[in-house]
Amino acid sequence: MRCLVGLDDTDSRLGQCTTHLGFRAIPALLSEGCTFRRYPRLVRLNPNIPFKTRGNAAVCLDFESERPDAAFETVESLLRELSDVENGANSGAVFVTGDPEARLFRPIYERALSGVVSPRWVSRVLKSNAVRSSTLGNGMGIVGAAASLGFSEEDDHTYELVAYRRPENCGTPRVVDPERVMRAERALFPYVFNSYDYGAGRSLIAPHGPDPVFAGVRAASPSIAMKAFGMLSYEEKLAGHMVYLSNQCTDAHLSNPLRMPLSAYSAGWLSGSVRSVGDGDGGHVYISLDADGREVPCAVYGPAGDLVRMSRQLAPGDRLIVFGGVRRGTHAHPAIVNVEKFEVLSVAEKVQYENPACPVCTRRMKSEGRGKGFQCHGCGARSRSVRKKATIIRRNIEPGVYLPSPGAQRHLTKPLVRYGRERRVAYPLVEGWIVSESVRALRVPAKSPR
Ligand SMILES: [Zn+2]
Repeated sequence: MRCLVGLDDTDSRLGQCTTHLGFRAIPALLSEGCTFRRYPRLVRLNPNIPFKTRGNAAVCLDFESERPDAAFETVESLLRELSDVENGANSGAVFVTGDPEARLFRPIYERALSGVVSPRWVSRVLKSNAVRSSTLGNGMGIVGAAASLGFSEEDDHTYELVAYRRPENCGTPRVVDPERVMRAERALFPYVFNSYDYGAGRSLIAPHGPDPVFAGVRAASPSIAMKAFGMLSYEEKLAGHMVYLSNQCTDAHLSNPLRMPLSAYSAGWLSGSVRSVGDGDGGHVYISLDADGREVPCAVYGPAGDLVRMSRQLAPGDRLIVFGGVRRGTHAHPAIVNVEKFEVLSVAEKVQYENPACPVCTRRMKSEGRGKGFQCHGCGARSRSVRKKATIIRRNIEPGVYLPSPGAQRHLTKPLVRYGRERRVAYPLVEGWIVSESVRALRVPAKSPR
């Protein structure tokens, strides 16, 4: 019988991580005879939620079992063991047998991607549909746990191989040769992405916290993720790795238009024309957008690098689609759109006007006021017939999509190399999709990718 388990919010600031719970649960399930035909899923949700855990990631395990209740008990006891409730984890788990009902889970997923979802609403929906669930802490994790069941393999998706550390190494610096990371990404271009930031010259695959994730490699297919991982160089002995199917790198959270008035923490897109562009503190750029006659303030933050540079090239009249999340307004500041990317639809002609040259002595003339002509302060000549000189300024931006530097992109941000390479059919499990010290000989079907 098909069984699904959605998990969320087992991590805290001090360690643990929801994907690690998946990595621990699968060997346990395999050892009790459960079988896997589908990749576990790593589901990212709205990155703009302030009370999220680090990456706002939920996990969905999808397997077959003759004894679903025993399998669910196994996962539940691991959840209790591994959730860092003392340090702020608010775990949630949802258990389903049979195919997950899209009617139930799809709306929760869609709302959790681009809005704010109340855990009480989710709990009510689950209860009234007799869906088994459990929570720890304040139970906020029920939202992601339920939402993870609404993400489908038929949605655009990518894969991530996540490698895990042995407990004794957690908290020590991760050492991966950045040169090898860059070479792996180059060799497997365009099927490996967001591993290396060429502009900053640094590797992006390893996190920095105390959690058990050693590194993650994002790719278009499981076998390419594994190949890239095999090209890396590191000395640490690892606990193993696992390949996830994921909504990462797909822009899934940006598919709906932002509603007016802007609602706090929502994500989506907005089209309009630029009214003004200006620099703020800390290297931020503020764009005032005219969206159907309504003025919408937008901000591109300094760390976004490439995106900040390009936003400085915008000028009044440029037509844009802005993608991002809404920062809550306060009494001092209105709600503002934090720009995650923008698409330039058309570039306005930017014209600079200069006072005319004096027809007598060629010095620059001064305006006498609107409609009163010009006077030359050099030779005193006056003229009403000369006009300001219009120069068309060369623009350093053209229609297209602009993204932050790779290091500043969200987990959900779709990298440029993926445009036109969307994937809506899952690959079959490949041999070695999970390697774990706790189960040495795992039998998984070894089929070649479709
Ligand atoms: Zn003159």
